[in-house]
Amino acid sequence: MFSVPNTTTQRPETTASENSPPQAEGDDQAFFADPNQPTNDDVDLPRIEEAVRAILAAVGEDPDREGLLETPARVARMYAEMFAGLKSDPARHLSKVFTEDYDEIVLVRDISFCSMCEHHLLPFTGKAHIAYLPSGKVVGLSKLARVVEEVARRPQVQERLTHTVADLVENRLSARGVAVVVESTHSCMTMRGVRKPGSLCLTSAMRGIFRDDPKSRSEVLGLINRQS
Ligand SMILES: [Zn+2]
Repeated sequence: MFSVPNTTTQRPETTASENSPPQAEGDDQAFFADPNQPTNDDVDLPRIEEAVRAILAAVGEDPDREGLLETPARVARMYAEMFAGLKSDPARHLSKVFTEDYDEIVLVRDISFCSMCEHHLLPFTGKAHIAYLPSGKVVGLSKLARVVEEVARRPQVQERLTHTVADLVENRLSARGVAVVVESTHSCMTMRGVRKPGSLCLTSAMRGIFRDDPKSRSEVLGLINRQS
């Protein structure tokens, strides 16, 4: 039905933040200056600062010592950034579609993301791979990366991140098939609790033909797993 040579495989465009040199202080300004990044103006920064001070005091620290003075404000800005996707609708990235007579698999692999585990408020980081089988409508490839970015920026679990992305692509593009595979490392597994560094969590969501037809599913999984 569809063949590998006609398949589009493309890595997402690098974002401005990836090209910027690492900055120690004031780094969050660059994030908010990017109009493509989600923002969440509803975040109550003073309230987070108060809470962080309370946590520092509760663990036996002195929140007023020099090294910690700026920490509550810094953490508040960090949470505003990490949870910037909470109030935005990632579907908007898929609103502009192009009519295209292309009915083979479109795959965007290795979309890196950083999300926050909602059980421990610790980061989990990894890669998402999104494949879909268009039904006359395609979307800009970087938009798929935007969707992942935005769905990741909220208190999250990997399972929900995976199927949320799959549902969005299926519904917005009326795709005949959608396959989303997410692989990530969870800080709550590696640095606390069972402490298993290197453990990888894999989740997948199959929709349409990739769910119903084993042959199509194994083809798309082969593309996602192909060594390049
Ligand atoms: Zn966790």
